[in-house]
Amino acid sequence: MARPAPKSLTRRAALFVVAICAAIVVLEGWREWVAYDAAVQKAELETQNLARSMRQHAEDTYEIADQAVSLVSYQIETTGIAPEALQQTEAFMLRTMQSAQRLRGIYVYDADGNWLVTTAENMPPGGNQAAYSYFRDHMTTPSDAPSFGAPIRAAGDDALVTTVSRRFDQPDGSFGGVVVAAIDTRYFADVYDSIDVGALGTISLYDSNGLLLSRKPYHPDLRDEDLGEGELFARPDLAQASGAYHYDSAVDGHRRIGGYDRGARYPIVSVVAVSHAEALASWGRGALQRGAITLGLTLGAALLGLRLVDQIRRRQRSETVLEQKESEFRLLAESASDLVERFDSDGTRTYISPALERLTGYRPEEMLGKNAFEVVNPQDRPAVEAAAERLRQGVTEQETVSFRLQHKDGREIWLETSLRIAAERSEKLSVVGVTRDVTERKRLELKLESLALRDGLTGIANRRAFDTALTREVARARRLSTPLSLLMIDADRFKRFNDDHGHLAGDACLKSIAAVVAMAARRPTDLAARYGGEELALLLPDTNIDAARAIAADLCRQVQALAIPHARNLPWRVATISIGIASIDPRDEDAVHDGSWLISTADLALYDAKGQGRNQSVAAPGKLRTTRLVG
Ligand code: GH3
Ligand code: MG
Ligand code: MG
Repeated sequence: MARPAPKSLTRRAALFVVAICAAIVVLEGWREWVAYDAAVQKAELETQNLARSMRQHAEDTYEIADQAVSLVSYQIETTGIAPEALQQTEAFMLRTMQSAQRLRGIYVYDADGNWLVTTAENMPPGGNQAAYSYFRDHMTTPSDAPSFGAPIRAAGDDALVTTVSRRFDQPDGSFGGVVVAAIDTRYFADVYDSIDVGALGTISLYDSNGLLLSRKPYHPDLRDEDLGEGELFARPDLAQASGAYHYDSAVDGHRRIGGYDRGARYPIVSVVAVSHAEALASWGRGALQRGAITLGLTLGAALLGLRLVDQIRRRQRSETVLEQKESEFRLLAESASDLVERFDSDGTRTYISPALERLTGYRPEEMLGKNAFEVVNPQDRPAVEAAAERLRQGVTEQETVSFRLQHKDGREIWLETSLRIAAERSEKLSVVGVTRDVTERKRLELKLESLALRDGLTGIANRRAFDTALTREVARARRLSTPLSLLMIDADRFKRFNDDHGHLAGDACLKSIAAVVAMAARRPTDLAARYGGEELALLLPDTNIDAARAIAADLCRQVQALAIPHARNLPWRVATISIGIASIDPRDEDAVHDGSWLISTADLALYDAKGQGRNQSVAAPGKLRTTRLVG
């Protein structure tokens, strides 16, 4: 009878818990991914912005150099290269240098490449320039456009410089020479040093062909300095004026985010790069913390949720089991011919099977909710309550009680109930009782009981019943200080009767005598019994010796009146009896008041009655214990 609904409910609840947890994790993951993306974008934007500033700064520097070169070439073209004119030019150049501090120097070479004038103080002039490509370019190209040179060693010292140069013409328009302005590559590097791009960050300046002009970190040779940012010039997708890109350095193994910006006025490109790890470090730390918290909370929620689901499942399972047990119980109970009932701890009926009506005439609903003890016969109630108490206390697990109860139709019936603890209903104690009608059995039992105490031949009480009654009555007489009398009765010359008429006739005679004696037991407590053989006894509680004497005399007369022929019982020729009487007198303090005394004393009296001729009764005086008794 397993029901599918609860099972799928718990499964759905478990799925729900798992789904919620998964959703939390996915949402948090997505949020972190967005945050990661934002951090990357921020780094890209920052490097791009910085690259723009650096490009602007470089262009400004080249512009200053270009202006200086332009002014000086114009001066020379105007004044010529005569020695006086050159002196003026030198002064002009020095003034120009004062307003252009970023320049390392201005140099003027003639058409053959020999130096004419320079701002470099105490500096030996560099060698002939005619061999340099830039010089030849100027010489062969009649353009007054500036030329930008690759970094070279400056004349006279180790500094690596980048140059801006222009040609100047002679008055006839022919090539007059070249004016060169030098910018120390170190100058840019110094500016870059003051900018924080993290420990692994780089700032580089290139010409438009990818030739390195300066960079941070700076190396005096500017060699092997590229950590991978040069990739910019190899990638066609990075041809825009500005942008950002990611690259892995084969040199130091770090991944970087680079922003670049190309010059508009001069053919230069600046690149600012930060380490990927450094740029995302703060996001990474936060993500780790948030992730740990989310994971912890989710795990906690999952554990709690699944635990709850487990508890629900267990409860459902035990409820199902209980329901099954209950329905099985009812099925059994309702099909049973015995009455099945359930009681709570104080004896209230909580369930009654339909068999009640057949047993007691009452319908189950008439008894439901009522106390079990109410209907029990008051005489049996103590025993029933004691059994219930033993169960309650846990002394026993099962009890069987028999009790009387009034049927709805008024007759008294006997029921027998087996009670057993059934503590299935939560913690509350419940008792199950199975009851059957034992009226018939009880009747038989009572009959057997009485048969056991009855003499088979005469139908009066037997010796066993007599002994019990004697003990009980002696105790009562003593307790209540009432007299108690005993008559010992013996058939006269009965041996001869048997001899003359046979044993069967003897038995019949004995039955007739017994019937007479039984009639004499008038009060409920009086008891006529067969003491043994052809001896009978009559126990008379609350009867003194005088009353007993009268009863005995009457008995003798009645037996004789039966007129059962007994020829050799002379002189009456009919069956007679002799009786010995003994009494306990409560007023007689010296008397020995017990059963055996009563019997032996009555016996002695009987012996006396025989001796005095039979068919008479003799009463023993209370105090005497001699064999000589008086009639
Ligand atoms: P007495 O007058 O002295 O009592 O003479 P008695 O012959 O009756 O002597 P006693 O009481 O000793 O006799 C007992 C006889 O009673 C013996 C036996 O034959 C007879 N008797 C005892 N019980 C029964 C019995 O159940 N049925 C029959 N038919 N006879 C019995
Ligand atoms: Mg006898
Ligand atoms: Mg006899």
